[in-house]
Amino acid sequence: MADHIFKNYINGEWRDAASGETFESRNPAINSDLVGTFPASGEADVAEAVAAAKAAFREWSLMPAPKRGEILKRVGDIMTERKSEIAHAMTREMGKPFFETKGDVQEAIDTAYYAMTMGRQLFGHTVPSEMSNKFNMTVRRPIGVCGLITAWNFPVAVPTWKMFPAILSGNTVVFKPSEDAPHSGALLVQVMHDAGVPKGVVNLVQGAGVTGQAIVDHPDVAAISFTGSSETGAKIAADAAARHARVSLEMGGKNPAIVMEDGDVDLAMEGLIWGAYGTTGQRCTATSRLIVHEDVHDDLVERIIAKASTLKLGYGNDSDTEMGPLINQKALDKVTGYMDVAREDGATIAMGGERASGEGLDDGYFFQPTLLTGVTRDMRVAREEIFGPVLSVIKIKSFDEAIEVANDVAFGLSSAIYTRDVARAFRALRDIDAGITYVNGPTIGAEAHMSFGGVKATGNGHREGGWEVYDFYTETKTCYIDFSGGLQRAQIDN
Ligand code: NAD
Repeated sequence: MADHIFKNYINGEWRDAASGETFESRNPAINSDLVGTFPASGEADVAEAVAAAKAAFREWSLMPAPKRGEILKRVGDIMTERKSEIAHAMTREMGKPFFETKGDVQEAIDTAYYAMTMGRQLFGHTVPSEMSNKFNMTVRRPIGVCGLITAWNFPVAVPTWKMFPAILSGNTVVFKPSEDAPHSGALLVQVMHDAGVPKGVVNLVQGAGVTGQAIVDHPDVAAISFTGSSETGAKIAADAAARHARVSLEMGGKNPAIVMEDGDVDLAMEGLIWGAYGTTGQRCTATSRLIVHEDVHDDLVERIIAKASTLKLGYGNDSDTEMGPLINQKALDKVTGYMDVAREDGATIAMGGERASGEGLDDGYFFQPTLLTGVTRDMRVAREEIFGPVLSVIKIKSFDEAIEVANDVAFGLSSAIYTRDVARAFRALRDIDAGITYVNGPTIGAEAHMSFGGVKATGNGHREGGWEVYDFYTETKTCYIDFSGGLQRAQIDN
């Protein structure tokens, strides 16, 4: 392959799209920098990938899980060796600074090693029988071919949250990375190839929504794991339901951080800077609502502005860059559009609010770190996912009001509360409607061995990470063994 021309990976071979069509991936910080061209895959390519995955399924599923785990250990080892290389490529492709992309690869490594340990722990259980001649147990079985469709913002870690538990459980996969991060997806699949994953077990098809749709609609895809927007997730859920395919959905967020008057305002400020402006606010777990007690409101707002306005914007592979660009023109238009919405609804743009320009910024999709004050819970900027470096500040008078506001949105992924009151901390853990709540820490994700997912329009009840993800990638089978040999039937049946 020429340096910048990439292919699909089907049945252990690198292939062009059947149509020969391609699309480009460009650096969002330096748009003139072409990362590569990738196959724009269609139904025919998806059909080939699914057929390869289906053909590989039986042999792979019969390999003992600890042996599959050993292959995942090799995957983790290779990723560890290539950590910097993959992280630099990821920064070039999707913009977040190198110190963040290194963390993304580390999450993938942790997920690989955790999957390795799960190879020895894919437990079923034994159950006592009502009958003395029977032994009962449940075993876990893989599902078959799994379609993995992902977003671009964690373009290595998130696919591994799906791919590693899927294949460790004995499934085979067809993976479609985001069209905004195809190179990162290709680098991940190259690692799988180099680690000796047998042909057909992992297949890669590049492309946009139509490629994903072909995976969703393919009758031989038994399960679909999706990460992306709530709109796309709803469509996938409906389409998959029509043919009874299993679906796991990880979708959008509107994550709240509550700061009470008894909280540590400095600690909160640090957490808010990371939560709201890390990954340029383009995380499903980004802090997009600050719900702050009126007694500390002005102090905290002042400190956030003082810190955030010094953040160094730029190309993430430059060592002093603290915040990268938005992913593309569409994202820039969307975030800019929300500034008009904020003004129309009566919020105040207390900091930022515009495309960032200046040396090193004009060929990229940079947007200033932005703080909106005077936001009320009914405003669109308090309710809708903006997916940019925009923090909406909502002033509250009491703890009960804080919880009520926190829960008053359609989403529920990550959440945080800053308080020194232990009773308030526990009440928040109990009462906030979200998949994750941090006490005295920012709204971020979870470690590889902890479950990750959201409620309401963020998820559909499944989890990634932890042992919980293995519930999605396996079916439970109930097994009865009659050891009477037929001799005692009359006696036992009574
Ligand atoms: P998106 O929904 O536009 O695209 C996500 C993926 O779905 C892409 O690979 C895309 O090509 C594919 N797709 C689009 N239409 C499809 C269709 N009809 N059928 C099948 N696949 C289709 O989302 P995005 O802009 O790439 O990502 C941003 C969103 O992802 C945000 O809402 C963010 O909160 C969410 N996200 C959620 C999590 C989480 O774990 N909850 C993690 C990261 C991102």
